[in-house]
Amino acid sequence: MVALFVVDERPLSTAGPRRVQLLAAHLRELDARLRDAGGGLRVERGDPTVVVPRLAAELGVHTVRWNGDVSAYSQRRDRLVAHELERLGIGTEVHWGTLVHAPGSVVARSTGQVQRVFTPFSKVWSSTSPTPWPTGPVRVAAPPEDGIPVTLALGVTGDAATGLPAAGEVAAEERLAAWLERVDDYESSRDLPADDVGTSHLSADLRFGTVSPRHVLDVVGTGTPGRAAFVRQLAWRDWYAHLLAEQPRLAHAAMKPHFDEVAWRDDPEAFAAWCDGRTGYPIVDAGMRQLAATGWMHNRVRMITASFLVKDLLVDWRLGEAHFRRELLDAEVSQNAGNWQWVAGTGPDAAPYFRIFNPLTQARRFDPDGEYVRRWVPELAGLAGRRVHAPWELPPLDLEVAGVTLGADYPWPIVDHAEARERTLAAYAAAAPPARGG
Ligand SMILES: Cc1cc2nc3c(=O)[nH]c(=O)nc-3n(C[C@H](O)[C@H](O)[C@H](O)COP(=O)(O)OP(=O)(O)OC[C@H]3O[C@@H](n4cnc5c(N)ncnc54)[C@H](O)[C@@H]3O)c2cc1C
Repeated sequence: MVALFVVDERPLSTAGPRRVQLLAAHLRELDARLRDAGGGLRVERGDPTVVVPRLAAELGVHTVRWNGDVSAYSQRRDRLVAHELERLGIGTEVHWGTLVHAPGSVVARSTGQVQRVFTPFSKVWSSTSPTPWPTGPVRVAAPPEDGIPVTLALGVTGDAATGLPAAGEVAAEERLAAWLERVDDYESSRDLPADDVGTSHLSADLRFGTVSPRHVLDVVGTGTPGRAAFVRQLAWRDWYAHLLAEQPRLAHAAMKPHFDEVAWRDDPEAFAAWCDGRTGYPIVDAGMRQLAATGWMHNRVRMITASFLVKDLLVDWRLGEAHFRRELLDAEVSQNAGNWQWVAGTGPDAAPYFRIFNPLTQARRFDPDGEYVRRWVPELAGLAGRRVHAPWELPPLDLEVAGVTLGADYPWPIVDHAEARERTLAAYAAAAPPARGG
């Protein structure tokens, strides 16, 4: 078997430098592992619909195997690759090791389609048997010498950026092992962003394929409430992937089409303040700064920051999706667009649009001591406990003692939440279809 990775410029162009560095580190690690097994990884850069068939023909391979992907672009690309290979008389095998179940294998019996509501999907998902693990070739051949060095193929220089998770399958397996010590507490720890180990941090491994969700499911099981709650998240992941595979337009269009008519505000300054963590809402700013500094953000805070962009600033969810897609180490079109649509109230099984997160209530509930905010917004570190969540409500003397001058050290809130909420409700209502019988 020859192992090949083709750097495809199209998806690469949507990734920020940190994710590209992590990809490079993973590829180097994979190459090292394959070399230990007597082989190596061949890296190429170019159009996969050209490179894969050309190399397959050159090397005289019988079958080309790869993992499928669900975005519109990937589906089209992979169909073209398969078509070209078949034309050359070379076999193809597509696997779905990046999901628990392959798209199309978990559908409503009545319609043959993926359910639009999560709970019925998850019931069928739980009772579906995974396809057996593939028993492919295990001997890895040394790749021909003329591939491209990973750094050159990806346009990265030097060693991996600091602060990235350790790369490769062995490191992923260690993260999974560490998580097994904590998973039973998942129900109580998963919504507290100050708890650094309250969730598994496996999302980037699942995204890059350094661990398969099927393996995670096998190892974790559903034996305790914590484990069952955790496995339910893997079902959400499959659900968003299956939905996108069936309806690729969901990456950029509202599932409920009338919500594409919302009159979003064009406000580059507000958007920049959100991206940079300068909105004056400490919980939002903490999340955006965690993202900028690490490439990861806690799920609860992803919901709060996304909701703030869409419902408080009334900025199109697609701008936020593109920013997250660039910055997140775990960014996947299916998961990102699915979750953004959930938050925006425009997608499948989404929160109704009129249920709007109050960032302050969320902050007080899920960061009760203000620890998470103080970690990421150090200019507010002098404000003890939950007082850190609303500096604008504090008496001037308290701010002075804490060394905070609003408007100088830390911004005033960019919007008034109550007013912003009314504005958003009106904009959504104008786009929503009239109530039945109304
Ligand atoms: C606006 C927004 C954008 C998001 N974008 C992405 C993205 O691009 N890629 C991504 O993997 N996740 C995304 N998520 C989902 C979720 O935030 C991350 O999967 C999670 O925070 C990763 O941390 P973890 O591995 O510690 O999660 P854990 O809590 O340990 O969960 C285990 C695994 O379950 C899956 N999972 C957890 N929550 C969700 C969810 N809400 N939807 C789908 N799968 C989930 C992930 O694969 C995760 O690794 C997004 C959520 C929001 C609200």
